[in-house]
Amino acid sequence: MKPADVVVIGGGVVGLSVAYHLAKRGAGRVVLLEREPFLGTGSTGKCAGGIRQQFSSEANVRVSIESVAFLAHFEEITGSPLDFQQNGYLFLLATPEHLAHFKANMEMQNSLGLEVQLLDPGQARDIVPVLNVSDLLGATFCPTDGLVSPNDMTMGFAGAARAHGVEILLETGATGIEMESGRVKAVHTSRGRLETRAVVNAAGPHARVVAEWAGVDLPVYPVRRHIFTTRPLPFVSVRFPMVVDFVSGVYMHQESGGMLLGLADKDEPYGFNEEVNWDFLERIIEPAVHRIPALEQAEILTGWAGLYEDTPDHNAVLGPVPGAPGLFLANGFSGHGLMHAPAAGRIVADSVVNGFLEVGMETLGFERFALGNVPAEANVI
Ligand SMILES: Cc1cc2nc3c(=O)[nH]c(=O)nc-3n(C[C@H](O)[C@H](O)[C@H](O)COP(=O)(O)OP(=O)(O)OC[C@H]3O[C@@H](n4cnc5c(N)ncnc54)[C@H](O)[C@@H]3O)c2cc1C
Repeated sequence: MKPADVVVIGGGVVGLSVAYHLAKRGAGRVVLLEREPFLGTGSTGKCAGGIRQQFSSEANVRVSIESVAFLAHFEEITGSPLDFQQNGYLFLLATPEHLAHFKANMEMQNSLGLEVQLLDPGQARDIVPVLNVSDLLGATFCPTDGLVSPNDMTMGFAGAARAHGVEILLETGATGIEMESGRVKAVHTSRGRLETRAVVNAAGPHARVVAEWAGVDLPVYPVRRHIFTTRPLPFVSVRFPMVVDFVSGVYMHQESGGMLLGLADKDEPYGFNEEVNWDFLERIIEPAVHRIPALEQAEILTGWAGLYEDTPDHNAVLGPVPGAPGLFLANGFSGHGLMHAPAAGRIVADSVVNGFLEVGMETLGFERFALGNVPAEANVI
């Protein structure tokens, strides 16, 4: 195979964003490898489409704000249309601790220029009239958060990457990374050896395996997450926001006239199991009906499971790995990889070109694991 300047492993939304940004920065010959016959069939194709900026860490808020600005101009930038509905995210808070935590978050978010409001329970019900607010203490609402089509985003990045010269090889799996004198020399693929001095790991839940090829112990773990959808419901409008019942963890948004319901099972063991556990539906229904009693009448249409790529502190891992020159990471998004793909792609591409991770993003760098001083992202759904 003809040598490449940069090889990106993984054709999900993150790898495609990295590849697009690399090509835009003039990084030379960029080749993206995807082992499946189609793009975006991994975690990207299983996700809920949520786009939010209400995080607990400043770095994550900054990445979110940049990503939302990109998505708001997606068609102008990439040439592809994007279904992006900015209906907001409503976080419902039922304990004094959560209320205090979100109030402090809001002050930090507002200081970064993000419009987030603290609401009383009545104001939350003004936004979503079917809510049961009897046990709530408050809520936060960010009107520029919203929902996006993961397929539009993935295909938009792919089209723009190709237009800027990226070569996307489907049904081409990476099978190993060849190192010489401690640095990246080539990627071995199912179609042969591909010489390169830079490889970006964008393998989603499979990132740990790819990093191991370069001798790097990357703490990114796959963990199953479920989603169920209902048939159309009379109270659901196209302006229905994402509702997050923070105390139970249930999140709900409009989906084809019905509702999409999701919940992270905190007891789920790490692993690659993506089978739907229909017994888990009960665990979602109970808190969902408590919060929106009208859901009692809902009929379940379908359900699926996909994999989060979790890190111990629920923060992504971006940029170079000091012990393995030539290896760059775009991994570990812990449930927010779609919403962070635009800015994370830009940050990782810049790190490949510049050789270092930009100032201000240290809490998302690989070295934090050795230092061990990064607080975990607390607003994980
Ligand atoms: C149920 C669920 C709900 C979610 N909801 C949201 C949400 O609302 N908002 C949000 O922002 N995020 C959400 N996420 C998380 C989001 O889906 C992921 O963080 C994001 O899709 C990660 O993208 P990726 O490109 O890194 O990974 P993937 O989409 O998994 O892409 C990785 C690609 O790498 C390929 N690959 C792996 N190994 C190799 C190899 N050796 N050679 C070649 N190719 C390889 C795979 O085939 C795959 O296509 C959700 C996830 C799940 C499971």
